[in-house]
Amino acid sequence: REIRRLGAAVIVMAFDEKGQAESVGRRVAVAERCYRLLVNEAGFPPEDIIFDLNIFAVATGIEEHDDYGRAFIEATRLVRERLPGVHASGGVSNLSFSFRGNNAVREAMHSVFLYHAIAGGMDFGIVNAGQLGVYEDIPERLRETVEDVILNRSPGAGERLLQLAQEYQGQGGQQARDEQEWRGLPLAERLSYALVHGLDAHVVEDTEAARQDSERALDVIEGPLMDGMNTVGDLFATGRMFLPQVVKSARVMKKAVAHLIPFIEQEGSGVSSRGRLVVATVKGDVHDIGKNIVGVVLQCNGYEVIDLGVMTPCEEILDTAVREKADYIGLSGLITPSLNEMVHVAGEMQRRGMDLPLLIGGATTSPRHTALKIDPAYEGGVVYVKDASRAVGVLGRLSGSGREAYLGEVAADLKRRREQPAGARRREDLLSLDDARANRLSIDWQAEPPANPVRAGRLEVISPTLAELYDYIDWRPFFAAWEIHGKFPDLLQDGAKGQAATGLWDDVHRMIIEPIKAGAAEFRTAGVAGLFPAASRGDDIVVYADESRENELGRIYCLREQRRKPPGNPNGCLADFVAPGDRAPDYVGMFAVTAGGNLDEVIAQLGSDDLADYGGILLKAMADRAAEAFAELLHEKVRKEFWGYAGEESFSNEELITESYQGIRPAPGYPGCPDHSEKELIWRLLDVEQHTGARLTESYAMWPAATVSGYYFSHPRARYPNIGLIGADQLQDYARRKAIPLEEARLWLTPNLADADT
Ligand code: SAH
Repeated sequence: REIRRLGAAVIVMAFDEKGQAESVGRRVAVAERCYRLLVNEAGFPPEDIIFDLNIFAVATGIEEHDDYGRAFIEATRLVRERLPGVHASGGVSNLSFSFRGNNAVREAMHSVFLYHAIAGGMDFGIVNAGQLGVYEDIPERLRETVEDVILNRSPGAGERLLQLAQEYQGQGGQQARDEQEWRGLPLAERLSYALVHGLDAHVVEDTEAARQDSERALDVIEGPLMDGMNTVGDLFATGRMFLPQVVKSARVMKKAVAHLIPFIEQEGSGVSSRGRLVVATVKGDVHDIGKNIVGVVLQCNGYEVIDLGVMTPCEEILDTAVREKADYIGLSGLITPSLNEMVHVAGEMQRRGMDLPLLIGGATTSPRHTALKIDPAYEGGVVYVKDASRAVGVLGRLSGSGREAYLGEVAADLKRRREQPAGARRREDLLSLDDARANRLSIDWQAEPPANPVRAGRLEVISPTLAELYDYIDWRPFFAAWEIHGKFPDLLQDGAKGQAATGLWDDVHRMIIEPIKAGAAEFRTAGVAGLFPAASRGDDIVVYADESRENELGRIYCLREQRRKPPGNPNGCLADFVAPGDRAPDYVGMFAVTAGGNLDEVIAQLGSDDLADYGGILLKAMADRAAEAFAELLHEKVRKEFWGYAGEESFSNEELITESYQGIRPAPGYPGCPDHSEKELIWRLLDVEQHTGARLTESYAMWPAATVSGYYFSHPRARYPNIGLIGADQLQDYARRKAIPLEEARLWLTPNLADADT
């Protein structure tokens, strides 16, 4: 009754006072009894009941176990029939428990079992979706033997499966058919196999063979290659393949198509396309990993993609779309100023009277910003695409017959979001700037004095190698870039995504890290840091040229959290972590590090494919990791040697990643200091461009993309603030302090303003 009151559904296992139900009769009896209690006594709707009718291990060598598979399926059928509305589930891997360590056989057993159990009415299940073969793909002898075991249809079947299993011992299941075996498949299946498994070694040879068998070269694309890619699409859509695997498949597809193109041109026919997309990272922004993944995935799904790269001016995007008769435009961006640029592009599309759908994606974009700012600027249809893996689905709906209906749905959703008064309500939750300031963290500088650096001023440039950076790498964001989320290294073992994660891990080591460690290439790295005398003044930090603290070099303009905080929590602001000049003398640090200045060169040296392909995307993601690791290494050096307040510290990689050390290194553009334009001071005081080659775009994105910059604060009480929403009073105050027009401040702080203030 308590569960019912909470509105939850129940999973009921087939157990009672006598223990677990093993026979068909007992399973059904227990289920019927539970059903009566739940439906008649507690008022459960039958569809909120899920029976787990106990899946037990088969082929264990014990005769009583032989009927377990069949009995489960039969009981499931009866329960679904007699108790209408209920669901049936079970933990599938238990079935193959006696074949532990033999994944090929286990996967085959799971596939066969599900095939029959689902037909019998099983509609829920606990199963490792990443390790599930396709029923039809299981080698015939294995499939039949497994079927004999599961359906208990021939005596001695368990014994025969044990025998047969020895042949499959040590194979990784569906991924690991050995080359000989799959090379022996019929041609079309071979092509499909190569696509699904991302194997390119024989693809040109197989494509050529297929071409010779076909009337036209085009038939190879429209036949076996598209069939293979459709399989990839299905596996991806059902969570059995992941982005890195799809991008590898795309690479194989591209090789096959490249081989066919000259023949197709000779024949005078064109490759048919499902539609043409012009995609670009907007002006001022440099990030393109997500955009490149989208491009590759769409191409292998039959779309034509014209990729204009990064920092693309609006005119170039729109002119190209018109000239190339594009069907869609896709905009990508990572930093907040790109949001305004996207609004600008949408407005220009409207002004030019364009009518093709505009797709919006990238880290800072959101359904809300799309609804409030971009959609109203353009009437041709704006679609927010949450992540790279959804692009195929979105274009599928836009290129099909349901296009108008889909655009209508999307528009209605955006309209609903616009009308939600969330933004206005949130603004009312804010404190006034004065009240927020009154609730600041106030450090007793006598009791907790600032640390004096061993060496102040700008420090020498350092250039670590990838080998030196390796131990500082945080791998989690590397997998996240490929939409494989989770804790590292655990995700390598994960049931569903472990295989994809491990493949990615192996590839990046084999294709990039090992060759670099062996000297085949090297990321060009350069980093610079400086520690400057400083004092807080209100919410600003004044940075001085020397200890006299008379010559001001510039100011860090900080923002303050304005939302109402729980009692005992201050309204955070970075300036609070620096002592005001009148008491103890204090310092602030700055740094910039870069690792990706020579990616074109590295890719050539590694002999990989071009930068927009699998190898190139891997390389870019790796360069980002190197830059972040560099930031970690330099920060450690600063704490231990230059500022010197933490000479004794010794942290593991994991402790560094969770920032267990004293002090913080907030980065402009992140939540503690969301104004990207503040990087300008770092560039000026450290001469970053001259020393590292990294520069700032007009939106204050850092180029090359694999660049990190920020401040150092040393105080033990320093924490990262999360500025979030600010009020009109702080916006005005900030513009006044920075001596910039209100409009400009608004531009840099777009995501921090309540809807009513933007
Ligand atoms: N190990 C991570 C490091 C980047 S995320 C990686 O390899 O990608 C953590 C960094 O983001 C911090 O060191 C800091 O520079 C920045 N950061 C995180 N939260 C922040 C905040 N609230 N304000 C400012 N910077 C922040």
